Amino acid sequence: MPRVSESEVLAALAKVIDPDRGGDVVGLKMVNGLVVRDGNVGFALEVDARDGERKEPLRRACEQAVERLPGVLSVSVALTAHRPPEAKPAATAAKPGIPGIKTILAVASGKGGVGKSTTAVNLALALAALGRRVGLLDADIYGPSIPRLMALSGRPGTTDDRTLEPKIGYGIKCMSMGFLVAEDTPMIWRGPMVVQALEQMLNQVAWGELDVLVCDLPPGTGDAQLTMAQRVPLTGAVIVSTPQDIALIDARKGLNMFRKVDVPVFGIIENMSYFICPHCGGRSEIFAHGGARRTAAELGTDFLGEIPLHMAIRETSDSGTPIVATEPAGPHAAAYLAIADIVARKLDAASGSDARRPPRIVIQ
Ligand code: ADP
Repeated sequence: MPRVSESEVLAALAKVIDPDRGGDVVGLKMVNGLVVRDGNVGFALEVDARDGERKEPLRRACEQAVERLPGVLSVSVALTAHRPPEAKPAATAAKPGIPGIKTILAVASGKGGVGKSTTAVNLALALAALGRRVGLLDADIYGPSIPRLMALSGRPGTTDDRTLEPKIGYGIKCMSMGFLVAEDTPMIWRGPMVVQALEQMLNQVAWGELDVLVCDLPPGTGDAQLTMAQRVPLTGAVIVSTPQDIALIDARKGLNMFRKVDVPVFGIIENMSYFICPHCGGRSEIFAHGGARRTAAELGTDFLGEIPLHMAIRETSDSGTPIVATEPAGPHAAAYLAIADIVARKLDAASGSDARRPPRIVIQ
């Protein structure tokens, strides 16, 4: 069967009327970022931030109008809030800070599956355990995993001023695309839409006062990651890698990416570093432990620490009971806390926070 074309999708959408505004969604320029690929259709329906959820029936109507077309395999329509003009950052300000958020830390990896999200979650919890006010932003728009790792679900509420309320897990404020879009929705996002979604999650969420917002970036070093690194006012980044050579090569790419956009890389964390046998207590270096330390030295960045490959880390991570929160006195939490301590100091230094300034001696 021939696949549906962009013009056929637009023609179908031009028949969907927004009852509030008395026009069709195409004519009203509400359809944004339309992507039609092999029968998979995705776009954003831009609505006024004040309308939010009230527009769900219209979103559904758009979805159904496209679903009915021959040659359509899937349809993904996301409601996006039109930013009120006063909240728009000035076009000249490339990286405006986020009011109330002192520092933003990116957790990145050169490739998927190295434990980046697990590390982001436990690092965020460890920073909180050190007394920092912490938020966790799941910037992995394509494959959000923070809802699962923090056992959070459901749609976020909104505050009076129509910003989204973060969800709180283990005392940490969290926001994720996973709260806004159903898990099985195919995500077909064009670059600019990803950035738009990310900017909304940064600017239209009631984060309140935070010492650090930990940002779990999508894996890899492609355009999407580069744009994020450019758009988000990052204070610094950590790169998670496994010790194998191949993962480390990818870590190098990550390092170079942040250098390109002038974001300081605080260092590399070696995950799945070594294995302690639960039966005999022997230590096995499955992935030739120590690769990240060597790479860090070669590349002139810091080695921040190592996390063992351990069943307890996997089980707690995958069941939404992260180990730093549920076994705070255990050896694994200690490994994350040690890394968090270094990272916290680096955040202070990079942001010029008072905690790091020497006392001022006043001579009268
Ligand atoms: P990424 O974000 O890099 O894709 P995840 O954090 O989702 O990776 O981790 C991938 C898998 O590896 C998950 O099942 C997770 O529980 C597991 N995992 C991550 N770190 C460890 C570790 N140190 N020990 C054991 N399992 C781990």
